[in-house]
Amino acid sequence: MSNENQDGVHTICPYCGVGCGLKLTEGESDGEVNIKPWFDAPVNEGALCIKGGASTEVVDHEDRLKEPLLKEDGEFREATWEEAMDRIATELERIRDEHGPDAMGFFTSSKCTNEENYLMQKFARRYGTNNVDNCTRLCHASTVAALRASLGAGAMTNSMQDLREEADVYWIQGANPAEQHVIAHSNYFKQAAMEDTYVVQIDPHANKTTRHTDTHLQLKPGTDIPLLNVVLKTILDEDLVDEEYLESRTEGVESLRETLSDFDVEAAAETCGVDVEEIREMARIYAEADNAAIFTGMGMSQHRCGTDNVQNLINLALATGNVGRPGTGVNPLRGQNNVQGTCDVGAMPNVLPGYVPVDDDEARAEVEDVWGFEVDPEPGLTNVEITQSIGDAVHGLYVMGENPVISEPNSNHVREQLEKLEFMVVQDIFMTDTAEYADVVLPATSWAERGGTVTNTDRRVQRMRKATEVPGNTRGDLEIVSDLGTRLFGEGFDFDGPEDVFEELRETAPIYRGLTYDRIGLEGVHWPCYEEGDEGDPFLYEDSFDTDNGLGKIRGVRHQPPAEVEDSEYPFVLTTGRLEEHYNTGTMSTRSPTLVRKTPTNFVDINPEDAERLGIEDGEEIQLRSRRGEIEIEARVTDDIRPGILWSTDHFPEAPINELTNDALDPVAKIPEYKAAAAQISVDVEPATGDD
Ligand code: SF4
Repeated sequence: MSNENQDGVHTICPYCGVGCGLKLTEGESDGEVNIKPWFDAPVNEGALCIKGGASTEVVDHEDRLKEPLLKEDGEFREATWEEAMDRIATELERIRDEHGPDAMGFFTSSKCTNEENYLMQKFARRYGTNNVDNCTRLCHASTVAALRASLGAGAMTNSMQDLREEADVYWIQGANPAEQHVIAHSNYFKQAAMEDTYVVQIDPHANKTTRHTDTHLQLKPGTDIPLLNVVLKTILDEDLVDEEYLESRTEGVESLRETLSDFDVEAAAETCGVDVEEIREMARIYAEADNAAIFTGMGMSQHRCGTDNVQNLINLALATGNVGRPGTGVNPLRGQNNVQGTCDVGAMPNVLPGYVPVDDDEARAEVEDVWGFEVDPEPGLTNVEITQSIGDAVHGLYVMGENPVISEPNSNHVREQLEKLEFMVVQDIFMTDTAEYADVVLPATSWAERGGTVTNTDRRVQRMRKATEVPGNTRGDLEIVSDLGTRLFGEGFDFDGPEDVFEELRETAPIYRGLTYDRIGLEGVHWPCYEEGDEGDPFLYEDSFDTDNGLGKIRGVRHQPPAEVEDSEYPFVLTTGRLEEHYNTGTMSTRSPTLVRKTPTNFVDINPEDAERLGIEDGEEIQLRSRRGEIEIEARVTDDIRPGILWSTDHFPEAPINELTNDALDPVAKIPEYKAAAAQISVDVEPATGDD
């Protein structure tokens, strides 16, 4: 064990983006690791949620992949690493020779470290394509797009600590921190709420966050823009804007005034299904606060208008002068342990490490100088576009730690697309629904077996440390990509471990340039950190924004209904969310005995009025259908959701809600519309009638 400390190795929880620290000790059997609290951990001070506490249950799980697998005549057989790597190298070269480099797509993973993702995106660029993307595309691509365009950086503007200490109002729209960012909520946000911070929650689904909320506006899915426009119209009409801030720090307020000049607030409130006076009252509470902070999540981003949804939150913050101070800002709570870092290191089709645009000749040349090869100046395809292009422009796929068959929308179509691939590699710790379609499956490292850095939701770069050896014949993700890169390209992929990779990452990514492994230490450092010795910035934009002219950009936006709305054939709106005890596609969490105990299988929430009308009992199996698929699922009858709306989760491969969700894309960020699909229900039993 690579102990820095005799009583355990300090590392970071592998699940959500809060970035809680914990310590690992080796257990009695091979590969077994146990958790000890890290009481001085900078984010969580020893506290862990149920997922963090159960996180070692997957490390030595009996289902771990332990040998490379090759598919022959439709069946997998065990293979040597030499055979597997030869096959991959040969096929990648063949695809490039026959179709060109853009015929390959590369999916990197927010469950992997910065170093692993950095190396994988470098591999894709060296191969000759920008077709490299990560699961941010499916969760916060629209948030990143809006924040980058209007403020400068695609990340939380503030830190959990200053939001805890300084905010007078929390405006939580489309996020559920009490279940999705449990320790951020319990150690920071709930503490503030229990003192005197006023909490407004805007969400179609009542959840655990609602319990600590002063006012819950339960809007219909897909109506965030009209609701925020009622807020903005109120603020403009009642002169609650911060004129001095608007004048000195922003541009574009005329576009907002123009958009809202003939705006009908009563009609908009009716569209949202929320009382207009209640919305107006919340507008006043937000605008009159000394410091008001916005939290946003996938309830905002996963719409075909996700970029405009987040832009309207930015409009609200800028119009009232609520960016650039502690306790304010626009703060996306990021889902996976390293989803922020995966974007930071350039695992996206349009940017290189440090968000250097691939089509910016001057900036790209600086990265090319470090790498020693030229990068295609054309942005590549996003992950959903890659899947949709299979059989046409795309013929090969390399998937590191992702499971698109379960995570992408309209997943029956995803399966059809994967069938058309000429060649696919999956690198993972378990056999997944996606890996079943692969030609080569590589057994990779779990979180406890790797070192490297990860970047949490408030931009704190922290170190994960290896606590145990990789089992069987598995190899680390970094080692695999390094080996393959060296085989294919000769130079540029031979590194002496993660710190060596990080040193190169620093050279290419300006926001990481001041960081070193020593400097990160046990405390971590918030980026941007441009030079060694910089303290890092817990909150951004104190004096100016990172935009072309230093001004924050206001842009009025109008309501765009979901791509698919309810009708007589599909009378419900199906929306989706996540559970406290589960994680993404369930590859890890559904194998954890502790995590499956409370919720072993998927379910759909239905309002009692609808349930009674359809004769559905609580706990009954029903057929849930959209235009794209049909699943059997348990009904839960609850007031948490309003009539006409259904709510379910995407954690369970055996009742995969993404067979039903819509793959309509936001035109800017290309994020799919997971949050609204027209659906219908049928039951096997005769519906009960009022006469029975
Ligand atoms: Fe892990 Fe997130 Fe829970 Fe912290 S809040 S223990 S990072 S899952």
